[in-house]
Amino acid sequence: MLFSSQLSQVPIQYAKGVGPKRALLLEKLGIRSVEDALWYIPWRYDNRLEILPIRNVVPGVKVTVRGIVEACRVAITSRRRLTLVTVIVRDDTGVLECLFFNQPFLKGTFTPGVSVLLTGMVTASSHHRGSKLIMKAPMYEILDEDDGDQEVGRIIPIYHETHGVSSKQLRRILQGILDQYLSQAVDVVPESLRKSLGLPSLAESFPVLHSPSSERSVAQLNAHETSEHRRLAFEELLLLQLALAMRRTSLDQLVEGVSFSPSNPLVTRFREVLSFSLTAAQERVIREIVLDMSQATAMNRLLQGDVGCGKTIVALYAMLIACGAGYQAVLMAPTEILSEQHYASLMPYCEKLGLSCHLIKGGLSGRAREESLALLQSGAVHIVVGTHALLQPDVRFHRLGLVIVDEQHKFGVLQRARLREKASWQPDVLVMTATPIPRTLAMTIYGDLDVSVIDQFPPGRKPVLTKLFMRSQRKAVYELLQKELEGGRQAYVVFPLVEPSEKVDLQAAVEGAENLQKALPAFRIGLLHGRMSSKDKQHVMDDFQSRRIDILVSTTVVEVGLDIHNATVMVIEHAERFGLAQLHQLRGRVGRGQSQGYCLLVHGLGSMEGMERSFSLTLEGMPPSSAGITWPMPPPEMSRSLAKHRLKVFTECQDGFALAEEDLKIRGPGQVLGVQQWGELKFRVADLVRDVSLLKKAKDVARNILAADPELQRSEHSSLRKKLMMQWGEKFSLGAVG
Ligand code: ADP
Ligand code: MG
Repeated sequence: MLFSSQLSQVPIQYAKGVGPKRALLLEKLGIRSVEDALWYIPWRYDNRLEILPIRNVVPGVKVTVRGIVEACRVAITSRRRLTLVTVIVRDDTGVLECLFFNQPFLKGTFTPGVSVLLTGMVTASSHHRGSKLIMKAPMYEILDEDDGDQEVGRIIPIYHETHGVSSKQLRRILQGILDQYLSQAVDVVPESLRKSLGLPSLAESFPVLHSPSSERSVAQLNAHETSEHRRLAFEELLLLQLALAMRRTSLDQLVEGVSFSPSNPLVTRFREVLSFSLTAAQERVIREIVLDMSQATAMNRLLQGDVGCGKTIVALYAMLIACGAGYQAVLMAPTEILSEQHYASLMPYCEKLGLSCHLIKGGLSGRAREESLALLQSGAVHIVVGTHALLQPDVRFHRLGLVIVDEQHKFGVLQRARLREKASWQPDVLVMTATPIPRTLAMTIYGDLDVSVIDQFPPGRKPVLTKLFMRSQRKAVYELLQKELEGGRQAYVVFPLVEPSEKVDLQAAVEGAENLQKALPAFRIGLLHGRMSSKDKQHVMDDFQSRRIDILVSTTVVEVGLDIHNATVMVIEHAERFGLAQLHQLRGRVGRGQSQGYCLLVHGLGSMEGMERSFSLTLEGMPPSSAGITWPMPPPEMSRSLAKHRLKVFTECQDGFALAEEDLKIRGPGQVLGVQQWGELKFRVADLVRDVSLLKKAKDVARNILAADPELQRSEHSSLRKKLMMQWGEKFSLGAVG
C-alpha cells in the first residue's frame, strides 16, 4: 500500500476511467495527481432529489425535469439579431419549451431522441394560441442510456469543465477515486487541532464535497459554507501562514543585518532643509522604521498610506539613515514614470545634502548605463532609483543597506527577494504602497511584513469633489473644465485601457483628444499612452509639468506617479470600467495642492435617477455565488444597477481602504491585486472574501504551532511539514529550514 501522503504522487492517469488521453485533458484543469482531483471541488451543486413531471411544473419556481428532445430549431430574431435555439422536450406527462440565446451550436447537442435533464425557472408566456410554459436558458445535462439513476434522485456536484471532460465524467472519475484512494488520504492538520476547531477530517470531507448525501443543505453546499469546505480552506490558509512565518524567521536568522544608528548628521541636516513640518503620522512611522533599522536583524516593513499622504519623505528619511552610516539605498518602482517622479522629488533634497542620486531606467544608452553602474559599484552613488531594470545581475552595489520597493504588489511577491540578494548581508527592506490593500489580502501577500500606516494628510488638503455624468451630459463636463483651465489650472482626461482591445482603447483616447480640442479650442492638449517610447512619454510629461500643455489625455498610465499640484481636474471616461480602488488612485492625482480638486466620472450607464442618496458599503442583491465560486472563475458580470451603485458609492466615499474592500467583494482578489500577483497565491478552495475569520484563525494557529515547534520537527507535524515544503518550499526558499 502506498504511503498515504503520497496521493500527490499518484498520476491521475492511473485513476479508474482516466488513462493517458484523458489525463492530458485533466491537466488543463490543474489535475495532475489523484490528490489534485480530490481537491478539485465542485463549484456548485444541483438539487436533483426531485424530478418533476412536466405537467406539474408551475411558473416562477426553479425545477428539474427529465425528458426526451422532440425537436430543436435555430432562428435569428429580426430586431436584435439574437440567435434563438428552441428545444422541445417531452416526458410522459407533457411538453416543455426551452430557449437558449446565442448558442447555435446547441443544435448539435439537442438532437431529437436524446434524453435530457433540465434545471431552471419556468415562465408562462402568453401566445396567440393560449399560454405556454417556457424555460429560459436552463442548466442542462444530456443523459446516456447507461446513466441509469446515477444522475438523478440525489444532490449532483457540478464541476468546472474543460473541452473533452464533462462534469458528468468528472463525477465518475471522482467516484472511482473516492472508492479506491480515500482511505489513503492523510490529514496534515493534527487531530487535536482539528477537534479544537470543530473541523472534520479530510477523509470525512471529500465524500461530502464530491458526493453529498440527500440530507445535506444544497444552499449551504452552494455557498461553500459547509464545515467540509472550511476544513479544506483552512488547510490551504494554514500552509500559507506557516510558510510566511517560517520564511520570516529563516530570513531573520540567516544572515546578520545592519544595525544603523538612529540619527546622524544627514538626517539632522534634512530636518533643517525641510520646508514644512512632518505630520504626526509621518513622525510616528519614522520612529517605527528607525527602530527597525537600528536592530541587528533586518527590517521587513510595509508602509501603507493613501496617495498624497507623504510617503516619499518618509522613504527618504529611511535612506538617510542608511546613507549617513556609509551604506547605499535603492528605490524600485513599477513604472518608468513613477521612478522618474521619485527621482525628481528626491533630487532637490539630495543636492542640498550633497548626496549622489542616480536614475537607472530601461532606455538608458549603453555608455550612460555603464557609467552609472560603475559609480554604483564603487560606492560613489549613494541612492539609486529605477524600475525592475535594477534587478539585472550587472547592477551591483558597493554596500547596499536599504531596499525600498514601491507598489510592490505590481511586481509579484517574489521579486523583493531578488533585490535584497544584492547584498552579502541582509539589507533592511521597506515596502511602500498607496494601493489600499484590504486587510485579508495584506495578511496573505504581506503576511511576513510588519505594517506602518500613515493615516493623516498634510494640512490643507481638501477632499476631491466627485461627480457623475452621463455621456450625454459631456457638455457640463467641458464647462467645468473650461472654468478651471481659464483660472490657470490643468486637467487630466483618462481613458481605460483594457488589454485585449488595446488598439481600440488607444483609438478612443485619440478620438477623445480630438473632440476635446474641438470643444475647447483655446487650450493645449497632450496625449500620453502606453505605446509611446519612454522618451516621448517623458517629453509629454515635461510639457505638462511646465504648463506647456493644459490638458493631458491619457490611458491609465498616469495611475500611479504624476505629482502635479496645479492639476485640479480629473476626468475619467468609461468610469464604469474601472475598479473602485483604481478610480481612487486616479482621483488622488488631483487636489494635491491648496486648491479644490474635481473628479468627474463620465459613464455609459444611463440616468442615476432613483438611486438612493444614502449608501451602505454592503451591496445587497449581489449573487451569493460570487463569493462562493472558486477561483479562477471570471468575476460575475455586473448588473447595470450594481455598476451604478458602485459609482455612486465612490462619489461619496474618500476612504481608499473601504473602496478596496468593496472591490475585493465584487471583483475578487485577482482584480484588486493584478492577476500576476494573485496567480502566485491562488487557492483551490479558500476564498479571501468569504474566509476572513478562517484566515485569522489560521494565522494564530500557525504562530502557536511554530512557537512550540519552530521547524516542524515533531512527529505529529511531519506530514504537515512535507506538504508545506512541497507547496511553498521553493517559492519561499524554505529549503534552509530542514
Ligand atoms: P505619497 O507618496 O504618499 O503619495 P508624497 O510623498 O508624494 O505622497 O507627498 C505628496 C505631497 O505632499 C508632496 O508634494 C510632498 O512634498 C508634500 N508633503 C509631504 N509631507 C508633507 C507635510 N508634512 N506637510 C506638507 N506637505 C507635505
Ligand atoms: Mg537593521
